[in-house]
Amino acid sequence: MAEKRDYYEVLGVERNADADTIKKAYRKAAIKHHPDKNPGNKEAEEKFKEAAEAYDVLSNDDKRARYDRFGHAGMGGAAGGGGFSGFSGGGFSMEDIFEQFGDIFGGFGGGFGGGRSSRGRAQQRGSDIRITVKLNLQEVAEGVTKKLKINKTVACDQCGGSGAKDSSSYATCSQCNGSGYIISVQNSFFGRMQTQSVCPSCGGSGRTIKDKCSKCGGEGTERGQEIIEVKIPAGVADGMVLTVRGKGNAARNGGVSGDLLVVIEEEHNPLLIRDGNDLIHNMNITVTTAILGGEVEVPTIDGKARIKIAPGTHAGKVLRLRGKGLPDVNGYGRGDIMVVVDITIPDELTKEERNLVEKLSEQPNFKRASGVENQNIFERMKNFFR
Ligand SMILES: [Zn+2]
Ligand SMILES: [Zn+2]
Repeated sequence: MAEKRDYYEVLGVERNADADTIKKAYRKAAIKHHPDKNPGNKEAEEKFKEAAEAYDVLSNDDKRARYDRFGHAGMGGAAGGGGFSGFSGGGFSMEDIFEQFGDIFGGFGGGFGGGRSSRGRAQQRGSDIRITVKLNLQEVAEGVTKKLKINKTVACDQCGGSGAKDSSSYATCSQCNGSGYIISVQNSFFGRMQTQSVCPSCGGSGRTIKDKCSKCGGEGTERGQEIIEVKIPAGVADGMVLTVRGKGNAARNGGVSGDLLVVIEEEHNPLLIRDGNDLIHNMNITVTTAILGGEVEVPTIDGKARIKIAPGTHAGKVLRLRGKGLPDVNGYGRGDIMVVVDITIPDELTKEERNLVEKLSEQPNFKRASGVENQNIFERMKNFFR
């Protein structure tokens, strides 16, 4: 193996250079030696890899400290005790470099976006379709299968999406010579850069159609409609998105279809307000029921339930109907219905009622307004809204 050059020398920076300087130096080197800019140039490729290796070490505080102390010897596979991922031996592959540092020299007005995919042909992908589905509480609780009628781009039924009249209707694309890509030079912040982009003539397929399909005119697609069944699991919540792969718009020239994104919207239910998998019902009871106890009716997901009110029930008390809430979307059990009690005080009294209440107010148990009870309510509320 050839003697390695000093990492600082590779990037052309001082030994005390700060992180920003190192990053800038690497970016400069990476752009200079980028394979897209130097097609088929082995030396440039080696330099490109060398710069990536130097940057990998110098941009990491631990590795840099080790390198400063021990030099290249400190960078060997086992010696470092792990944590050294890149190139103990063979060095970085081009894929590794794009994977790890691609964002440093990519993303500038197109930059070197094509770098990684230059080996394969570009394939067109249809766009995603986003659709909102409104569910009531019962549908959320039980799960539901929805048949959705989607207006979308579909594959042409005459040519099956190819856009060609038949299988002998193809010729190699003259603009890209069959590669599917064209290379253009543009001026950018970093100087002149080569950019690979999908060939506009053939859309990346590398071939053109001599005799086009008479129905779609060679596009391979047409506007259409599809009825798609979407199975929505129980327990979904507002804002969740279900992805149905390949059910979005069809792509030109037989590419990959986009996805159908189903956004869940919950209908508001004023009687049962959702809190995670629990449902909250605010229930008013009369003063006499609160004092004497009784039985009241509360709404549930699929009907009603009767519950007992104990004598001496205070406002703010929470009664739990276990397991009557919503199922967990991941299958972890089921929530509760929580009935929060409030007490209705009559706004007006008849003369007779007034007399009775006045009489009542003279009784010993009605004379006392203890602060303890209020505190209990407060505690309960606190626990409730934990
Ligand atoms: Zn067609
Ligand atoms: Zn082409």
